[in-house]
Amino acid sequence: NTRRVRRALLSVSDKTGLVALAQALAAQGVTLISTGGTAKALREAGLAVQDVSDVTGFPEMMDGRVKTLHPKVHGGLLGRAGLDDAVMAEHDIEAIDLLVLNLYPFEAVSKKPGVTFDELIENIDIGGPAMLRSAAKNFARVAVATDPAQYEALIDEMKSNDGALGGKTRWQLSVAAFNNVAQYDARISDLLSSLGEGVEVATFPAQSNGNFVKVMDLRYGENPHQQGAFYRDLQPAAGSLATFTQLQGKELSFNNLADADAAWECVRQFDAPACVIVKHANPCGVAVGVAPGDAYELAYATDPTSAFGGIIAFNTKLDAATAKTILDRQFVEVLIAPDYDEAAIEYAKKKANVRVLRIPMAPRSSGFIDVKRVGSGLLMQTADDREVTREELKVVSQLAPTDKQMDDLLFAWRVAKFVKSNAIVYAKDHRTIGIGAGQMSRVVSAKIAGLKADEAGLIVPGSVMASDAFFPFRDGIDAAAEAGIKAVIQPGGSMRDNEVIAAADEHGLAMVFTGIRHFRH
Ligand code: 5GP
Repeated sequence: NTRRVRRALLSVSDKTGLVALAQALAAQGVTLISTGGTAKALREAGLAVQDVSDVTGFPEMMDGRVKTLHPKVHGGLLGRAGLDDAVMAEHDIEAIDLLVLNLYPFEAVSKKPGVTFDELIENIDIGGPAMLRSAAKNFARVAVATDPAQYEALIDEMKSNDGALGGKTRWQLSVAAFNNVAQYDARISDLLSSLGEGVEVATFPAQSNGNFVKVMDLRYGENPHQQGAFYRDLQPAAGSLATFTQLQGKELSFNNLADADAAWECVRQFDAPACVIVKHANPCGVAVGVAPGDAYELAYATDPTSAFGGIIAFNTKLDAATAKTILDRQFVEVLIAPDYDEAAIEYAKKKANVRVLRIPMAPRSSGFIDVKRVGSGLLMQTADDREVTREELKVVSQLAPTDKQMDDLLFAWRVAKFVKSNAIVYAKDHRTIGIGAGQMSRVVSAKIAGLKADEAGLIVPGSVMASDAFFPFRDGIDAAAEAGIKAVIQPGGSMRDNEVIAAADEHGLAMVFTGIRHFRH
């Protein structure tokens, strides 16, 4: 269903390639119709063109808000071959076979320094998207070009086809046009939402209207038989994983990105220099408050077996010596830091597989939405950005934690938030010594944390334990006491809190309640 192009409407903000295209169309005997600025540009190039206002019988008005919104234009674009011939003749509507149009540059204007609100609003194109939709809907008869990059192929096809375009071309152009309108409207909706001035803006979801842009296809999903891709928010938050730059290394995988996010979110919560090692979405070692090289050593020592093939994240610039220590010692999937010494990157280049990511550090913004797919639905929630302060902690045991234990309890608590439930974190001196993650019973998590601490030879007097949710029974406390734990932080709120507190007192443990829970699934 190849169709001859006889009448074209040209209305473009971006006039790139316009004159050459119009000349080629004219050479094919195509009649040109055009809106104000476009018509002017064509006339200046010596082309014959009919004004759209002559077609509609209305002047362009309201500063261009209304130019082409008229049945003579939309009927000309939407009229179906055969089916609508009679009605078109009755109302003197002439068919338009080709629309060449690109929209008001809303996005570019929005980025102009000092742009005014009125200017922004005036750059919301109305007639343009309407015409794009009319033409794209009627791809059976009409072709629509939305991008100067399409012009050359269009002309080539017409030249070799006696001035006609094929059905496949019209279909492809139609899809591209709908895409163009969708992106355009998404940008307007996003920008106006982010301004939130003078209008009621929905507070949920606060940060994303569900507009995502594809960053890349991934080799596969969680497993090789699954497909995967990475999308980011149209406007990613500063400091979030989506703002990464890959400095070197193999292509990032689905699991790499998921784990990198877990590592980065955990490490960026600390103000003091910190290192987090993640394996399968769980931290397997965390240390804070010492130089990167030492932090890495301490984090690594928590669980050297699991650290193999892990994701290692720092919240401070990574120096060459630390990079060398890591890369000489162990296999690393991904290294993450806000910045790197040049020599650190040079050294990393020796290991072609190691992915090195830079993520500029920025304060965490609140109000984010977590999304999880379930069946044919989405679970949405505000992100867990609640932090517990020392003042909020309630000592419930006879024995109060020492100041030092208090520091370690808060450290362990902050790590536990990033460990999958049931989460148990053993810690001492601002470093983890054992982590139990993802178990279906809390007591088993506590036992695993003890086992890891024991294996690593890290149980030392005065160690502490954090639990992401309350202990339903005293058995978790018994397991911790047996492993040598001396102080516990947990939300409290169990039916058997009394029994649990009694167990702590019995073992001579200090215990504090946070009143806040950090499930992570
Ligand atoms: P020109 O530079 O030719 O005066 O204007 C071209 C621009 O006007 C194109 O970006 C096109 O999308 C837009 N346009 C065409 N018709 C209308 C209309 O009726 N209303 C509005 N607001 N814009 C239109």
